[in-house]
Amino acid sequence: MKSISCKIFGHEYHNINETNSLYKELECEKCHKHFTTDGYGRVVKLTSFWKDNHLSIEKYFQKV
Ligand SMILES: [Zn+2]
Repeated sequence: MKSISCKIFGHEYHNINETNSLYKELECEKCHKHFTTDGYGRVVKLTSFWKDNHLSIEKYFQKV
């Protein structure tokens, strides 16, 4: 039911990353799946690839 409405109307994203503004971590309010945005601003599924990517971004900025 939840995922069907997402298929028809699309996900309803809101940003749940409150720790920093280095990247977005999006959650769908309807199906509670997690997403992020790639380098082009497109919404992509939050996979382990992106989680690793976010960690290295954080590390990079913490060094400064
Ligand atoms: Zn959804």
